[in-house]
Amino acid sequence: MANLRLNALEQLQGRSNGVAVKAPSEKISDYFGCNSFGIDQMKSTLSPDVFKKVTYAIEHGKKVDVETADAVAAAVKNWALPKGITHYTHWFQPLTGATAEKHDTFFDGLSGIEKFKGSALVQQEPDASSFPHGGIRSTFEARGYTAWDPSSPIFILEDTLCIPTIFVSYTGEALDYKAPLLKAIEAVDRAATYVCKYFDRNVSKVNASLGCEQEYFVVDKALYAARPDLVMGGRTVFGHNPARGQQLDDHYFGSIPPRIYTFMKDFEVEALKLGIPVSTRHNEVAPSQFEVAPLFEDLNKATDHNQLLMDIMNRVAEKHELKVLFHEKPFAGLNGNGKHNNWSLITNTGVNLFAPSSSARDNLQFLTFFVNTIKAVYDHADLLRASIASAGNDHRLGANEAPPAIVSVFIGSQLSAVLDELEKNGNVKVEKGDNMYMKLGIDKIPEIILDNTDRNRTSPFAFTGNKFEFRAVGSDANVANPMTALNVIVADQLNAFAKEVDKLIEKGTEKRLAIVNVLRKYIKDSKKIRFEGDGYSEDWVKEAEKRGLSNVKNTPRALDAFLTKKSEEAFLKYNVLSKKELEARHEIMLENYIMKIQIESRVMGDLALNHIIPTAIAYQNKLIHNANGLKGLGIDNKSIVKSIQKISEHIDAVREGVLAMIEERKRINKVENTREKAIAYCDDIKEKYFEKIRYSVDKLELFVDDEDWPLVKYRELLFLR
Ligand code: ADP
Ligand code: MG
Repeated sequence: MANLRLNALEQLQGRSNGVAVKAPSEKISDYFGCNSFGIDQMKSTLSPDVFKKVTYAIEHGKKVDVETADAVAAAVKNWALPKGITHYTHWFQPLTGATAEKHDTFFDGLSGIEKFKGSALVQQEPDASSFPHGGIRSTFEARGYTAWDPSSPIFILEDTLCIPTIFVSYTGEALDYKAPLLKAIEAVDRAATYVCKYFDRNVSKVNASLGCEQEYFVVDKALYAARPDLVMGGRTVFGHNPARGQQLDDHYFGSIPPRIYTFMKDFEVEALKLGIPVSTRHNEVAPSQFEVAPLFEDLNKATDHNQLLMDIMNRVAEKHELKVLFHEKPFAGLNGNGKHNNWSLITNTGVNLFAPSSSARDNLQFLTFFVNTIKAVYDHADLLRASIASAGNDHRLGANEAPPAIVSVFIGSQLSAVLDELEKNGNVKVEKGDNMYMKLGIDKIPEIILDNTDRNRTSPFAFTGNKFEFRAVGSDANVANPMTALNVIVADQLNAFAKEVDKLIEKGTEKRLAIVNVLRKYIKDSKKIRFEGDGYSEDWVKEAEKRGLSNVKNTPRALDAFLTKKSEEAFLKYNVLSKKELEARHEIMLENYIMKIQIESRVMGDLALNHIIPTAIAYQNKLIHNANGLKGLGIDNKSIVKSIQKISEHIDAVREGVLAMIEERKRINKVENTREKAIAYCDDIKEKYFEKIRYSVDKLELFVDDEDWPLVKYRELLFLR
């Protein structure tokens, strides 16, 4: 048993300091996007007429006709074949959380040549039954189909051409993350465009943008393989804290270790080839923790690119004999992994609606979008919380050094002052000749220097200069889920705002005054969600409770918010998700939660009974032998006897804990209602046993001879590479 760990450590001795990596060229622009067939490639390979039709379809979210599809397919084939590409696949994002592919060859046996028709580009029928459907399949047909999303570039992964698609059931229900996201993007575009017209009639489209900062850990592959808990569940269920954790904060500022550095360079090259604009890399707070961030892109593209980037990192890590851990909390006691979602709205005239400016008129527009977003977050805090709920993120939210499960908005002291001022200004009378903006007190919003925006890192939803940053998103998550929720609620809020403003205007109120009056009301209404202090502190938990803000600590309960009347209405109004689809999703997320906890619980049981206890007993026997030997010499060593007793106690605690947990699982597995079952897994398995069992196992780790201990230790996982 112990050999597994020692073998792994031995393998590590033989590792070099990194596989040499050579970029295809010194200049990134020479190879950026060479493996992706995006707008530029379309423009240069399609006839102007076809290109126009495709861009129209992209901009308006419409389908392309058969001839256009054939023309695009031919161009794609001509682009891909010379690169040695033999297969193609529809690439989609089922609700498993991973991405899915089913490869077909271009080679047509009948004609003996490579073929790729428009119909194969546009639609395919993978068997839907093997993907999560949350009950949709049993009521409807098992078949599902994938449909091309022309707004996300086609790309090459290894020797396969991948076509981004949505995945829906035969009766039209969404079975993936992308389909609702595209609808949410459309909803926010419409609503924001309407509101923009109060300020600038030239705006005809608003794009939601996203830049994801992705955190991750990297460990050696051999050490990883020797930790069944990492292999099965992505996190360590046992492991005593190393003597040195992240107290020194030295890793954050330190240089990137050479082996990791070459790995980073390698996956960055692959990402850049795919047109993913990765731009920053650095160490994170915990040892062996890092971050990568691309420049922001259109939300849909950025979402695909984040999924793809994670996939590439996994593939490239293999080559470097490393393993990437995307789990939200791979190591207890250390920082977890998050995925900061930097989000903004940008008009087709190039204006970032979240960028404050020195012009008073533009500032009213900025304040409009700014305040409406805060109001949306206030009204739908529970839905946002639900959209980031997962078994993994439960370990992170509310744990040390992570945003709490309480949703709040941080905006910084300068903007707080602006909103307070606006709120205070009461019902000003504006007369002819008055400087309206001055009277309203918004003539000169202090120009906010980007680097000067407060760096409060403890807020789950923070305004950072010219964008909002949803920081509570889990590192392993598909961001489409939280982004769908966010864009739907902001769309809904903007529409409600426009309605109120229009009503006032109809009644004869001057437009700007109408806008300010409604905003002022929103500022008052949503004030409770604003919090500028330390989000990690106990005080905030108490304060939030006083304010009546929710603090839902676990996934099965947080997910309830998907099914409230309020959420249902918002999703339905924009045709993003129907009640049936929401219910199906809710079911799938609960099932996913149950499976995750079940797997962790089983791994814990296996490790404890088959590895930890036998090792502890063997060591205890050594001590007993020693104690008896000493006794024979007439030496009465109390400390050995005490150790033997302690080991006994911990062995008992582990054994009893595991056996009781197994009994409890048997009981819970019979529970039929999925929500009740998930709650039981949370309360009666995870909460009741995990910490308790772990405590004794981690104590045993301290007792047992290092040579005998079967599991790779934290200090080895975190510091050896
Ligand atoms: P931080 O200081 O939090 O690390 P950065 O300024 O490095 O933030 O930006 C982090 C991410 O935010 C990057 O992906 C960046 O492209 C993205 N970002 C910057 N501006 C915007 C914006 N207007 N909309 C969306 N994302 C943005
Ligand atoms: Mg950030």
